[in-house]
Amino acid sequence: MYDLIVIGCGGIGSATLHQAALKGWNVLGIEQFGLAHNKGSSHGQTRIIRKAYFEHPSYVPLAEEAFDRWDFLNKRHRTRPDIHPLFEQTGVLQIGLPDSEVIVGVRKSCELHGLQLEEFSADQIMQRLPLLKVESDHVGLFEPEAGFLRVEHCVAAHLAQAKKRGAKFAGETRVQSWTANADSVRVVTDGGNFDARRLAICAGAWSGGHLGDVPLELKVIAKQQNWYQIDRVEQKLVNDFPVVFIEQADGEQFYCLPELDSMGMKVARHTGGRVVDADTLDRNVDDDDLQRNGDFLERHFVHRKHRLVHHHTCMYTMSPDGHFVVDFHPAHRNVAFAAGLSGHGFKFAPVLGHRIVEMLDGGSDPSMDFLSLKRFSK
Ligand SMILES: Cc1cc2nc3c(=O)[nH]c(=O)nc-3n(C[C@H](O)[C@H](O)[C@H](O)COP(=O)(O)OP(=O)(O)OC[C@H]3O[C@@H](n4cnc5c(N)ncnc54)[C@H](O)[C@@H]3O)c2cc1C
Repeated sequence: MYDLIVIGCGGIGSATLHQAALKGWNVLGIEQFGLAHNKGSSHGQTRIIRKAYFEHPSYVPLAEEAFDRWDFLNKRHRTRPDIHPLFEQTGVLQIGLPDSEVIVGVRKSCELHGLQLEEFSADQIMQRLPLLKVESDHVGLFEPEAGFLRVEHCVAAHLAQAKKRGAKFAGETRVQSWTANADSVRVVTDGGNFDARRLAICAGAWSGGHLGDVPLELKVIAKQQNWYQIDRVEQKLVNDFPVVFIEQADGEQFYCLPELDSMGMKVARHTGGRVVDADTLDRNVDDDDLQRNGDFLERHFVHRKHRLVHHHTCMYTMSPDGHFVVDFHPAHRNVAFAAGLSGHGFKFAPVLGHRIVEMLDGGSDPSMDFLSLKRFSK
């Protein structure tokens, strides 16, 4: 009998496993694929981490906590200087029209939570980053402490640290179903049955299948991450180029992450995407997405030409309002879940893992109420 079983050991599940192990719980993580695999939502080299949150100001305190929790993990993971840090503080520059969703949202979060950002006009941005082309009526807000996480390394580090504290990991094991009563849960897998006092469902794009009758509509969207080699007018290497997030005048949002190796710079479209099924996802290059990313590069980068070197298809699991859903299963106080992370959840993984474990241990945190299931029944 485990204290906790975690279904899914990707971004959130690996962090939940770690948090439970830190608490001294006897915990089992069950994962249908391998360790830090590339078939879910937590792969593709990097994830942006920032505090100046345009999506909703209530995420800011959670992001502040996330910075500390990643630091805690990094200190334990980075035992030799040749191991890459999990978190690189390159800064994040968010660009848009003054009345765009991004700029208005970032300003609101800064005002409410006293965050200090540097503001630049289009000309100032282009002086500092000559590689960028910015339309004259756009502005930029720069958060110097923000940056990116090495996503697969983060998942692997959470799992390694959890295992160090006694957690068990069952990879290549697919959960078929689960049942619960007041005191225990039983999880049925293709590798046998497992029993525990509590259950955490962290199944990403497969969440719908594990949440059964929970009244929550989730939509899975394919997202392509593209790596380009850019024949630049001026060479720029990692650490002198920040993460850049741009909302264009047409409302389309794109982001770019610095070049880390020979794959080049990562560019992806945050908006749009086709609805898919996680089990039958087509991972081939999406030509429409490629065209849009190419147009974005032409419009915003001073360069001679670009070449696609690599791509990965990933999935956003969208909740109805684009915010996470972290709650108990309505019928079981010993079953909690995090779902619908809507394409911006990775940075919060250690915070969500911590809260899921605390919830299942009888704790509560009012600052998480905006993410509860009950908002949809209003
Ligand atoms: C292209 C892209 C870019 C993104 N950029 C950012 C960003 O810059 N910053 C940010 O904060 N967030 C970002 N996100 C969002 C973030 O990556 C996700 O919200 C987060 O990684 C989701 O974690 P998860 O644990 O819910 O899902 P996953 O990491 O996919 O984990 C779910 C796990 O459950 C397992 N599972 C499911 N069903 C079963 C079963 N039956 N049996 C066993 N195991 C099962 C799956 O195999 C998987 O490993 C991005 C997402 C994508 C796709």
